[in-house]
Amino acid sequence: MTLTLVTNADVVVTMDDARREIAGGAVAFRDGVIAAVGTAGELAALVADDVIDAAGCVVTPGLVNTHHHLYQSLTRGLAVNASLFGWLKTLYPIWARYTPEDVFAATQLGLAELALSGCSLSTDHLYLFPNGVTLDDTIHAAAGIGIRFYPTRGSMSVGESAGGLPPDTLVEDEAAILADTIRVIDRFHDAGPGAMVRVGVAPCSPFSVSRELMRDAALLARDKGVMLHTHLAEDADDVAFSLERFGCRPGQYAEELGWVGRDVWHAHCVQLDASEIDLFARTGTGVAHCPCSNCRLGSGIAPLRAMFAAGVPLGIGVDGSASNDSGHLLNEARQAVLLQRAVGGAGAFDPRDALWIATRGGAEMLGRHDCGSLEPGKRADLAIWDMAALSSAGAWDRVAGLVLSPPGGVRDLFVEGRGVVRDGDLVQTKRGEIVAAADRSLARLKEAI
Ligand SMILES: [Zn+2]
Repeated sequence: MTLTLVTNADVVVTMDDARREIAGGAVAFRDGVIAAVGTAGELAALVADDVIDAAGCVVTPGLVNTHHHLYQSLTRGLAVNASLFGWLKTLYPIWARYTPEDVFAATQLGLAELALSGCSLSTDHLYLFPNGVTLDDTIHAAAGIGIRFYPTRGSMSVGESAGGLPPDTLVEDEAAILADTIRVIDRFHDAGPGAMVRVGVAPCSPFSVSRELMRDAALLARDKGVMLHTHLAEDADDVAFSLERFGCRPGQYAEELGWVGRDVWHAHCVQLDASEIDLFARTGTGVAHCPCSNCRLGSGIAPLRAMFAAGVPLGIGVDGSASNDSGHLLNEARQAVLLQRAVGGAGAFDPRDALWIATRGGAEMLGRHDCGSLEPGKRADLAIWDMAALSSAGAWDRVAGLVLSPPGGVRDLFVEGRGVVRDGDLVQTKRGEIVAAADRSLARLKEAI
């Protein structure tokens, strides 16, 4: 029943329905749940067991990452000049050498990077399972870091010999995919409020699984009451593949197979046209916007402004570290703003809207209505940002400054009321051990070439 009071913040950004920003703000939480939000004066009468001074800081809800491939954290800086399909073909053989230890090390590395930059909830999309790798390896790794985890059981079933993109050695039998998906949902998925782990169903992409698997995955997810995730309309090649192979655009393909609705979110959607944006808005189908990855692979600029205006549920995603090659969500929000302005003018996108998408928008898109805002009764996931950091000092508008001149990392991060980052370092795991494990795996992966 310990009551923790975070007080004297320059600004508390609540992301409640009125999007209140409270100058001189404070947040109190107990048993993983927010108990009170207000000015420091309003909360001064609370008898707190632990008082955290947030002077000079902005306090926000923890950031939400809606698309990632954490295993890729060990393959940054490869195929640096390739577009999506060529990039994948270069990386598949390296990923085929991963062991469970490598996936564990890569997941810890990626989640540590996210936690240290203020992320309290991250999804993951693991779609290849060589050498005994299981989704369990990533879930165990996440437990060690302490942030909420939303792994999705990905899959690839159409290899090169059947006209797909991945090598045959990396694809799985579809019956085995569905059986293992049921196993991990039954073992790990927690549908309750405050859940630390939820599991989604996520065939990799229309160009690496069959029409039947897409359809069966949707049926399975609805039977289990879990969410669906995949890649869609990432670049022009992706759309061309859909037109040639399926005779329709990606949006129509998704709709025909049951891949629209509030329980579905797609990564990228760079190439959605106006009718597809309308389809997503009407059906409440979500989009994980990954601007840095889209830039790195030359995929284009997603119609974020149009999707936001139409009411498409939106989240920000860093995407895998092989195509970003960084995992810093505030930088991602910044990139989102800048790209929309590059094509739409200075008024095209507001930094506060980007911060909303990176917090509450992402949480709601993932069905986590218990997270994403600082309000009494919501889970105690909050990030404390020291605006005296070299990269942020001098920001007059502290909230816009958080997006436009973000600190390198978060000062403190609480998830379910528990400290994950304090004074800029991990609490529940040792940074040095994470790096050492990643280095060991990296050396082995290079040796095998
Ligand atoms: Zn991806």
